[in-house]
Amino acid sequence: MWALNHRHVPGGNEVTARAGVVYLVGAGPGDPGLITARALELIASADAIFHDRLIPPGALDGARDDAELVYVGKAPGDVPGVGPHSGHSITGTSGSQGGINAMLIEAARSGKSVVRLKGGDPFVFGRGGEEGEALRAAGVEFEVVPGVTAGVAATAYAGIPVTHRDQASAVAFVTGHEDPAKDEGALDWETLARFPGTLVLYMGVRRLRENAAALVEAGRDPAEPAAAVERGTMAGQRTVVATLGTLAEEAEREGVGAPALIVVGPVVALREALAWLERRPLHGRRVVVTRARAQASGLAATLRGLGAEAVELPAIRIEPLTESGEVRRTVAAIGEYALICLTSPNGVRLLFEALGAAGLDARALGGTIVAAIGPGTAGALEEHGIVADVLPERFVAEALVEALADVDVEGKRVLVARAAEARDVLPDALRERGAGVDVIALYETVRETPDPEAVEAAQGADYVTFTSSSTVRNLTEALGDRFPRGARVLSIGPITSEAARAAGLEVAVEAERHDVDGLVEALLRDAST
Ligand code: SAH
Repeated sequence: MWALNHRHVPGGNEVTARAGVVYLVGAGPGDPGLITARALELIASADAIFHDRLIPPGALDGARDDAELVYVGKAPGDVPGVGPHSGHSITGTSGSQGGINAMLIEAARSGKSVVRLKGGDPFVFGRGGEEGEALRAAGVEFEVVPGVTAGVAATAYAGIPVTHRDQASAVAFVTGHEDPAKDEGALDWETLARFPGTLVLYMGVRRLRENAAALVEAGRDPAEPAAAVERGTMAGQRTVVATLGTLAEEAEREGVGAPALIVVGPVVALREALAWLERRPLHGRRVVVTRARAQASGLAATLRGLGAEAVELPAIRIEPLTESGEVRRTVAAIGEYALICLTSPNGVRLLFEALGAAGLDARALGGTIVAAIGPGTAGALEEHGIVADVLPERFVAEALVEALADVDVEGKRVLVARAAEARDVLPDALRERGAGVDVIALYETVRETPDPEAVEAAQGADYVTFTSSSTVRNLTEALGDRFPRGARVLSIGPITSEAARAAGLEVAVEAERHDVDGLVEALLRDAST
């Protein structure tokens, strides 16, 4: 969402993080779709955000550009202050709980609005209680925003209902972190063994063997169904089902690692009937999206919705040229054009940015015929209150030329606003018909530096998707040997396929309809065979 001012949230509310207040916010279990609306609203408006490691990918994307992002993770091997989110200021931390409390207090006292962002729910094994106590003791105001806790989310994604009318009337959230051999542990295993319902153990992978043994020794039936749910709601979620007596061995054999939950109870057996995640059409497929980041998210979201793991590895990036004198002069006199042709959503976005910079808005186009090359471009225009007058049925320059046949351009001034490296089909055709055509370059596409983590993730990809020849060229050149040769190449259409072959790739699938929906259809068809 380009035009989104980070102080505003979708829906238009003015928000809302108050100065001097600390918000203890749950970020949910990992799936970016499971962050609450309130959490996003606060992230979008906070002055400072102190976050853990286990927060969903992209959770901080909506933060203000000038927000201070502080990584305070405590995982072994983590480098304090070097979080996974770049492009923002990231400062260091001591990482200890006392140090975190002190930082929160200091930030709030200095008048900032502060978000303390934690995985899952802040009050469920999140030490949010301790932070609240420290804040209260320091006289700092705070609010709590609950999050979807892993205990209900990872289980639900595994097809395990933690309660069930016939099978479990209660559920206990338990820490599996304590050493059952220690006398001073707060856990009473005998009581837990007798607990009449489902047991959900957090932080229980490392001590799974001891915990399971302690439960059995205390009288819980070793034949009771039990499961480990690894990376619940995240890409690559995995569920291992066994019995209380055998789960430790199974989990070890399968190499289950953190984060994972252990679930014990008859409800685990319901997974057989209720598992749904694994049934989605692209489950288990890793798909690389190579479009420019601004456009990638829509395709990536569609793929994720179908169950795929989408790896965003943008090959190109849009560099605005709206500061150029040419663009400024053209925009200042935009009312003089009889016809304006726009050939991409980026072009629309940047034209309106340039209009805005000149103190103008959509009304400047009031007397002008506006032509869009395709539905994406027309949609971008609509966001600015303009309904395109001309929209061809096929989305290429030649088709737009045809669609403009009825527009009288002879002796008129026409503006083609587009990318720097576009083809000249459209301006040439209009000139031939007697128009005085100005062409302005609103942006150029340049090669994006590949993100090493995404390159690494791409190595195990099943598919690489290409939506334009420039993404093919730029990605293959940027990756060289690191291009995932084992992946099937999916192309949006013949021009892109040609570029792929020229780059030495074998095209496995070409979309029949040359748009993103067509690409997804082709992928679904290929994946189902
Ligand atoms: N406040 C968090 C829990 C933090 S304790 C919440 O409400 O979810 C960390 C433990 O939570 C992990 O050791 C693991 O047992 C569990 N956990 C967190 N996220 C998880 C996930 N996505 N899948 C499985 N378990 C998860």
